Amino acid sequence: MATLEIHDLHVSVEAENGPREILRGVDLTVKQGETHAIMGPNGSGKSTLAYSLAGHPKYTVTGGTVTLDGEDVLAMSVDERARAGVFLAMQYPVEVPGVSVSNFLRTSATAVRGEAPKLRTWVKEVKEAMEHLQIDPSFAERNVNEGFSGGEKKRHEILQLELLKPAIAILDETDSGLDVDALRVVSEGVNRVRETGQVGTLLITHYTRILRYIKPDYVHVFAAGRIVESGGAELADKLENEGYAAYVKGGASGE
Ligand code: ADP
Ligand code: MG
Ligand code: MG
Repeated sequence: MATLEIHDLHVSVEAENGPREILRGVDLTVKQGETHAIMGPNGSGKSTLAYSLAGHPKYTVTGGTVTLDGEDVLAMSVDERARAGVFLAMQYPVEVPGVSVSNFLRTSATAVRGEAPKLRTWVKEVKEAMEHLQIDPSFAERNVNEGFSGGEKKRHEILQLELLKPAIAILDETDSGLDVDALRVVSEGVNRVRETGQVGTLLITHYTRILRYIKPDYVHVFAAGRIVESGGAELADKLENEGYAAYVKGGASGE
């Protein structure tokens, strides 16, 4: 059972007037099979956490540790993290001009699995996953995220999730900008992967809406660069009713 352990994580970004600390001591443990929702106001550092775990070079870790089954994740390159089983669905997926969805998926799967998937089973796998996510087959020949609608981008992220079968999936606002139908399809995709029991999910969201479809085991409130409260699914109900005001007032400025 894979376990991701984040301990006292501090991360800075390079701002115009020098480095600025965004994450201020994040502690979190995510085990395979568990679903953790991280909920917080805009600008609280949720995406910074996601990018830092995936190894984005813009974010500098200034303190703390991240391990996956005891292995030092922070010492790994982006590729090594992916091979170790860390997957990030980005809040704003990027275009990859000149690379088709089909090629991109196969290259990613080859990199993560350490060998090229057998063509016949692979084609079937992709076809099934695309059907699940109600993605038109012609989509496979389009360039990654080029001219994709918001909903198509998010479906494509979940398509990767279904095919790559990571140990730890970080989903950064996969729900934002989706209409109700797309939200349902995307949530069903996440739930299918989750039901395998083989993935630990970090579901980052601003809104409680997606939690009607994906029931988290744990909910964490994120404010001013750290987790300020943790609980079960009932904490999401409290947030739905009361919003983030209580947390922001107490901590948004960071002290
Ligand atoms: P959230 O995802 O919770 O909305 P972010 O992690 O995107 O929060 O941003 C947290 C804070 O860090 C914001 O004030 C944002 O402006 C700042 N920030 C994030 N990434 C960068 C960056 N690459 N350069 C400068 N500032 C950044
Ligand atoms: Mg934001
Ligand atoms: Mg964000």
